[in-house]
Formats: sequence, structure tokens, C-alpha cells
Amino acid sequence: MRGKAMNEKNQNRLQNRHSEHLLGTGTPMCAGCGGLAAIKEIYDVIGEKSVFINAAGCMTLLANYPFTPFRGSWLYTAMACAPAGAQGVRDALDILLAKGRLAAAEDLETVVLTGDGSANGIGLSATSGAMDRCLDFLYICYDNEGYGNTGQQASAATPLGARTATSRGPLGYPGRKKDLFAIWAAHRPTYVATVSPSHPLDLVRKLETAKNLKGPRLVLAFAPCPTGWGFDPKEMIEVGKLAVQTGIWPLKEYREGKVTHTIVPRPRLPVDEYLRRQGRFAHLFQPQRNEDVLQKIHSSVDAYWDAIES
Ligand code: SF4
Repeated sequence: MRGKAMNEKNQNRLQNRHSEHLLGTGTPMCAGCGGLAAIKEIYDVIGEKSVFINAAGCMTLLANYPFTPFRGSWLYTAMACAPAGAQGVRDALDILLAKGRLAAAEDLETVVLTGDGSANGIGLSATSGAMDRCLDFLYICYDNEGYGNTGQQASAATPLGARTATSRGPLGYPGRKKDLFAIWAAHRPTYVATVSPSHPLDLVRKLETAKNLKGPRLVLAFAPCPTGWGFDPKEMIEVGKLAVQTGIWPLKEYREGKVTHTIVPRPRLPVDEYLRRQGRFAHLFQPQRNEDVLQKIHSSVDAYWDAIES
């Protein structure tokens, strides 16, 4: 009981600290969490006139009753159904607006918040349906390329060669990362963008664009994960920068059928500079280089940018 009281006291102390961001302090996220850094920047733009519909994942732990770092509303759902929850919230808001019980100025942005496990796999069907219905919602995915909340098992967003809790062999994860940007764009929604917490100006401009549009909108945030990827938490921003500079994480947006790259890395740094920073790829370099897997990773990045620049 004394321990519980002490924990609550410590949590209160952390949560009462001044924050330069709208999202409050004292969350139980890991130190150096790239997903949390992205959400902080994103929430500053979205603002407190919002309802977050949060599918199970790392960020579910943000709002830990009776504590919450959000200034506005937050709703928890299972992994598969956050867009369905968003439909219910949006419908309720629209009914209140139609009945004059909610002023237009008090309307709330409906925001789905999920990790890559839900966005690419378990919740993809509900997302596709919501886009088919042209639901007016903003979908934020923090992509840490695995099921981080349960110990970094492989997800459909895990990249080739990465070691995870479910791909521990000498070759790492044998599959390819699913292209969520392309899957969304194929639905012809209002807006799709990739962002990284290491590039805050690019992130803020895209969030402002997304906020001022209606309909289905995805912001896919790169989420360097020190716990699951095996790097020092203080290097989180550096890992994010390297992902962009090596071309591993293209910064781009889709609107009205057109894809635009907002930052083109020139010159592109060698992909190994990004891979070598992370314990999840260490087996590709030691005890000797795994040229076969490394070549496949290099070629897929080269092929992507050759197609863009040709
Ligand atoms: S496991 Fe990774 S994504 Fe999850 S809270 Fe920790 S650092 Fe963030």
C-alpha cells in the first residue's frame, strides 16, 4: 500500500511538471520513445478540441485512469475497431450539431490513434470500411515496426532482416514491410502523409494541412523505438534523421491522386549507417556481414528512389 501511494505521488509530481507541449508530462512511455515524441508534436497542432479513439497498443498507456496527459477527450478501443469507434463518435457529434445542441465552433476533431500492428493488420479491415464510407476522421499511426507493447513481436510493418521477439533466427524477419501509404492512397482518401519526429517543420506543415481538410486522412509517423530496436534512447532523433537521410523512410504526401515527396535526400547516405545504429540489425554485420540480406535491403531502397527520380 505504501508502494502504491508512493507511485501515485511520483506520478502526480511528474504530471504536474511544466510541459512545453499540449500533451502533459509523466506518461509511462519508455525513455526516448519516438512515437511519443511524434504524438507530442502532432497534438500541439490538432489541439484539445479533439477526441482520440485509441486502439490497444503502446499509447493506450498514455491515459491511465485517473491520470491522462490529454487536455481533451480520449476513448479506448480494441485493436481491430478504432475506426468503428470513430464512426460512432463522429455520428454522435453530427447528431448534436444537427439538433443545435453543439455549436459548430465547439465541434471536435475525430482522431484515431493506433500503432502499426493495428494499422497494417488487425485493424485494416475496419479502416478500409471507414474510408469506403468517407468517414471524416484523422488517423494517426505511430509506426515502430512491431508489437512494442507486448515485447516487439513482428508485425506487418516489420522490415526485412530485423530481429524481433518472433524472428530470432540468423536472418531476422523474412517478410517485407507492408506499404501502408500505398494501401491508403489506393482508397483515394482526402490526404495521406508520412512524418518523422526528427523533422518537426515538415510534420507540423502536414498536420496543419490534414487538420484543415475533411474526410479520411492518414498521418503515418515514424516511431524510432529504443526498447524494441536496441539503441540508446538519447539517439532517437538521430535514428529518425538517418532513416530519412538514407531513404529508408520517405517523407511524402498524397492529395487528389498525386504523391509529392516533401524531402528528397540528396545525397542519400548509405543505408548501413541507419542499420548499424540498431541492435535489431546487428546480426547482419556480426560475426560477419550477411551480404544476401543486406543486398536485398539496399536494392529495395535504391529501386524506390530510382523510380521516383527517373
Ligand atoms: S516499446 Fe517502443 S513504441 Fe512502445 S513505448 Fe517503448 S519506445 Fe515507445
